[in-house]
Amino acid sequence: MLLRIRRDAGEAAVSDVSDRLRLAGLAVHRTDQEGQVRLAAVGQGATLDWDEVRRWPAVEAAEPILAPFPLASRTFHPADTVITVGRCAVGSAQLALMAGPCAVEGEQQAFTIAAAVARAGATVLRGGAYKPRTSPYSFQGMGEEGLRILRRAADAHGLALVSEVLDPQQVGLVASYADIVQVGARSMQNLSLLREVARAQKPVLLKRGPAATIEEWLMSAEHVLANGNRQVILCERGIRTFENHTRNTLDLGAVPVVQELSHLPVLVDPSHGTGLRDKVAPMARAAIAAGADGLLIEVHHDPDHALSDGPQSLHPEQFEELVRQIRPIAAVLGRTL
Ligand code: PEP
Ligand code: MN
Repeated sequence: MLLRIRRDAGEAAVSDVSDRLRLAGLAVHRTDQEGQVRLAAVGQGATLDWDEVRRWPAVEAAEPILAPFPLASRTFHPADTVITVGRCAVGSAQLALMAGPCAVEGEQQAFTIAAAVARAGATVLRGGAYKPRTSPYSFQGMGEEGLRILRRAADAHGLALVSEVLDPQQVGLVASYADIVQVGARSMQNLSLLREVARAQKPVLLKRGPAATIEEWLMSAEHVLANGNRQVILCERGIRTFENHTRNTLDLGAVPVVQELSHLPVLVDPSHGTGLRDKVAPMARAAIAAGADGLLIEVHHDPDHALSDGPQSLHPEQFEELVRQIRPIAAVLGRTL
């Protein structure tokens, strides 16, 4: 249920309402919108008599939240959520440009690419130190040494850092280096991982699972929100379909759908979404035109020798050109880079 609290009710009244809901076995989450306190009462608590609740003096209205993901829904929080990371306000009018290698491979590689993407206008460096590879014989990532390198490379160029976490036990370590912890597509429904990243209290980049519906994706976001972390950034990265000309089928239709259902920002990753270098720019432009809050893009200075995802990585000059192309598209939509 969503409870709107009377504007003239004081903090003591808000606490009182919250306590009474908790006593009924419900979890209470608060959001403030344009000066009004809104409480979501969620969970399987003992049934309350909601008509009685509506008569509580501080309660202006109580209405059911119909979405199965109440905290991620616009019913609970109508305004867009904006998540500030370094120089970037994800979900604001300013588009979030996150770029970098699929995986960190060494000092020189990370610094060269960080310099290039920063020069082009990115504000967040991406790079995996723990890689979820389809084959156990592929490069699995540099681990903590890689995180150390990424952090230094990001700092040297005024960038924030997003990096993937694979294992619930790694969350503390990854969160101590990265500004945003990435939950990869393969991990979208790893519930113990979602609970751990919620505890880390760092923004979470939650990729859509390759076979997940939009509702399942938002339910995964709900796990993070319900565990006390409101800073969830969604990322569409393509889903598995019968089509095999592209690595995945980039579902750009998900962008406006998610934006209607949820207040959370949504990015698009056209690199994994297509798997093909020459298809990244057109789909990145389309993503911005569709209203995405930003992009996550793989860039490598020597993609032919990249240890992972070389074929979908842009050369730095291609990334720079892409940013140039996006600027006027963003402007039409009243957004900036
Ligand atoms: C990545 O971002 O490098 C990655 C592994 O992406 P995904 O989880 O979308 O496959
Ligand atoms: Mn990759």
